[in-house]
Amino acid sequence: MQGASGNRTSYCDGVLSMTTSIWQYRSYTQSAPLLTTVFRNSTCPCCANSSNLTVSDREDESDGSRYSEYVKVMCCDLCGWWFVSRDTWDSSCGSVPDRALRTITATGAALRTFSAGPDDSQLALLESEIESHLLGHGTSGAWAALEDVTKGVFREFGYDSRVTARSKDGGIDVIVDHEEFGDVYAQVKHTKNKVGVRVLRELIGTMAINGATNSLLVTSSSFTRGVKKEQVLAAQRGFAVELVDGSRLLASLNLTYRRTPPSLSEVLGVAKPNVQLIWEEVEL
Ligand SMILES: [Zn+2]
Repeated sequence: MQGASGNRTSYCDGVLSMTTSIWQYRSYTQSAPLLTTVFRNSTCPCCANSSNLTVSDREDESDGSRYSEYVKVMCCDLCGWWFVSRDTWDSSCGSVPDRALRTITATGAALRTFSAGPDDSQLALLESEIESHLLGHGTSGAWAALEDVTKGVFREFGYDSRVTARSKDGGIDVIVDHEEFGDVYAQVKHTKNKVGVRVLRELIGTMAINGATNSLLVTSSSFTRGVKKEQVLAAQRGFAVELVDGSRLLASLNLTYRRTPPSLSEVLGVAKPNVQLIWEEVEL
């Protein structure tokens, strides 16, 4: 364990310390100066002729006096680049009543190129299959596309990864090159059936044989309750397995391949607006 480096310690340790999420945009793919410009001008950084971003989802919260929070997702109509910001005003901690602490944090589509993926018809098929699998039915024609988009999603998150030779089920499908954990295995199950404990145990067996500490189990459907229990037990033995179900997968796929304007929950599932743009005291 390389805990000494400390750069993975999160602010809310209680939540994240149990399992480090790998299925998540990494902060180095984000640039604070660029995001600040995007926030101030509401323009797309990808489209040269400053295409305007339009709000696709928002959530405002206020207690009426001391604390307000505005979270919104904006999206470029031309290229699909998206941006989410959280703007908070807090006047509860200062001694002067007419001043507030304003904090703006944000995140945007990873500032790498968007992944080239399968063609539109393959993506559409994959998407409809995942939607069916979540309900427990449907076919599995697009399984190869699923492995490709999984690799594409990892690329957007900021990882190098590779699809392994397509062999029989039970093997590892994608290997992520992780600077802290080494090889991280991702097993991808394109199936209408809920993924159960046996699949997880096989994955842990493969990890044990190869000395791997972290892996992901990705499915187009969902997991049985037993899997989540087994996940906790495995973590206690030093095997961290992150579970990515169909709805999380669908959201990530939508963000990576820009099929429809994203909603807040889609973005927040994989990309926390935690790049700080503004931190200032303001007069009310
Ligand atoms: Zn654009």
